Order: sequence, then C-alpha cells, then structure tokens
Amino acid sequence: MLKNALLWASKNPTLAEKLPRYRFVKQATRRFMPGEELQDALREAERLADSGIKGTTTLLGENLRSLEEADEVVDHYLDALRRIEERGLDVEISVKPTQLGLEFGVAEAERRLAKLLNATSSLVWIDMEGSDHVDATLELFRGAKGAKDNVGLCLQAYLRRTPDDLTRLMPSRPAIRIVKGAYNEPESIAFPAKGDVDRSYVKLMRTLLRARLHDEVDRPVSATHDPRMIGETNRIAFELGLDKERYEFAMLFGIQRHEQLRLVRRGHAVRVLISYGSAWFPWYMRRLAERPANLWFVAKQLVG
Ligand SMILES: Cc1cc2nc3c(=O)[nH]c(=O)nc-3n(C[C@H](O)[C@H](O)[C@H](O)COP(=O)(O)OP(=O)(O)OC[C@H]3O[C@@H](n4cnc5c(N)ncnc54)[C@H](O)[C@@H]3O)c2cc1C
Repeated sequence: MLKNALLWASKNPTLAEKLPRYRFVKQATRRFMPGEELQDALREAERLADSGIKGTTTLLGENLRSLEEADEVVDHYLDALRRIEERGLDVEISVKPTQLGLEFGVAEAERRLAKLLNATSSLVWIDMEGSDHVDATLELFRGAKGAKDNVGLCLQAYLRRTPDDLTRLMPSRPAIRIVKGAYNEPESIAFPAKGDVDRSYVKLMRTLLRARLHDEVDRPVSATHDPRMIGETNRIAFELGLDKERYEFAMLFGIQRHEQLRLVRRGHAVRVLISYGSAWFPWYMRRLAERPANLWFVAKQLVG
C-alpha cells in the first residue's frame, strides 16, 4: 500500500512542483543525493575514489516538454564530461533517454546521444525508464552502438520480455547493467512478486556472466543493493571460473555503504551512481518506494 502511494506520488506533478520548494524537504534527501549541482556529485565521487569506489553521475529529470530542454541536457552533460576529465576522475555518466528527446522520436535522441559519445572515450550508460519507452530505448541503443562502441544499456529484470531483449542484443557484444526495475508496471508485462523478479535477475546475470567468459559481452554489471543478488552474482562467477575483474557491481549513492566497501576490500569493482539536479522529486519517491523503511530515516532528518 505504502509502496503504491509513494509510486503514485512520484508521478504527481503538483507534489513534484510544490514539495521540493521547502528547505526541510530538500534536507531530507541528503542521504541519497549529495546536492543539486554537478559539483556536489563530483565532490562525492572524489571522496568515494579515496575508498577505491568508482563513480557514475546522472542528472535527474525526465519527460521533457521541448527539444530545447533536451539540448540543454546535452550541453550540461558535455560540460560534465569536460569537468570529469579535467579532474582526472574515473566517473561515467548515465542518461535517461527521455532527457535526450526520446519522446520526440528515436532519431532526436540518437543525434543527441551521438554528441555525448563523440565527446568522451569513457562509457555512456543509457538508463531504462518506464515500459512505454523500452522499444524506443532498445532502438536508440542499437543505433548508437552501431556507430560508436562506448555505450552501455540498463535492462530491467522485472519485465517479462527482458531475456528475449538480451538475447537479441548479444550479437553486438553489449555493455549491460542489470537492475530489478523501479517503475510501477502492470502484471501483464512485469512480474509482481519479488521472488519472480529475483529469479529473473539471477538468470539474466548468469546469461551475462557466461557470455563474458567467452568475451561475448563487454561489461556485465550487477546493479543491486540486495545482498542475495550480490551473493548469487559472485557464486555464479565463481562456478564459471570468471575472475572478479571481469564483472562489476553498481549501487546507488548512500545505500548499502558497508556492502560497497566490503566488496571493494574483497577485490571487486564497484561503481556508485550519484544523482543530482533540481528535478529530484519523482526519483526520490521511487527510492522511498523501494524501501518504505527509509521513511523513518526521512522523518528523523526532519525532526532532527
Ligand atoms: C546503479 C543503478 C542504476 C539503476 N538504474 C536503473 C534504471 O536505469 N532503470 C530502473 O528502472 N531502475 C534502475 N535502478 C533501480 C533498480 O531498478 C531498483 O529499483 C533498485 O536498485 C532497488 O532494487 P534492489 O536490487 O536494490 O533490490 P530490492 O529488492 O529493492 O531490495 C533488496 C534489499 O536491498 C536493500 N535495499 C534496497 N533498496 C534500498 C534502499 N533504498 N535503502 C536501503 N536498503 C535498500 C535492502 O536490504 C533490501 O531488502 C538502478 C539501480 C542501481 C543500483
């Protein structure tokens, strides 16, 4: 119930407009988001680098109203890529396709994505958004990957279609980040039960890790905070005889920090995704929906 209410709030434009204006609301987000500016994210990336953790940054915002807004997003990311390089940081960017203009046609998003891919030699990740956008996002990825190799894609384990999507992507030797999936999707297309999502996650990771063994996949990333999924990923890799350096873990800033450090100490590659930007409300509601227990943390921040 609470989860659904939070996911409903994540799509409510009035709440998204009004709540973030309050300073106390902003303050409550600090655990999961170091600040609204790129420099806040880069500062944290530098701090994480001291512990051996690599970074990914993402500018929050989705469903743009015009292509001019999409151009602004691209300019922002081009500047971000310059600043990351100047600081010598091992930080990648992860972009939402709708922020690149996907809703105005795949070609619009592809043109903008190409600018980012041409501006860096590091990998640019494409996030996966709600199910309405999956077909267009896959087309965007395939087009981009055909032209330039430094692009990776996120796939969601909760979608029933994902194993087939992954099979079709394999011939391009893709870089793939597997997540469980963060949106409210109907049962007809997504597994409603956590057990089924987890099983799907493990199967997808097994497919990826096995492909990695034969170098048929570029970068397999297990992006989860779930200790069971992390354990299964490592177990499968061990079974296959796949070295730790050949697959990666990714988590969100502020979540499971101990686990991030534990994995790094054991020699695993860990990247933390740091979000920033003023349009954080829907994203933040989705994070709370994943673990409503975090509402206690928010309440404590507000009172304290
Ligand atoms: C690097 C990265 C990139 C992502 N990109 C996308 C994307 O492009 N598209 C998309 O749809 N989703 C994306 N997600 C979100 C993802 O889909 C899940 O919603 C999110 O990761 C929560 O699922 P989980 O695998 O952590 O497991 P869950 O089943 O949600 O949680 C399992 C356990 O993990 C721990 N945990 C999980 N969340 C929290 C939390 N907020 N606070 C504290 N503990 C927690 C708890 O121990 C919990 O019991 C991304 C996630 C990561 C880490």
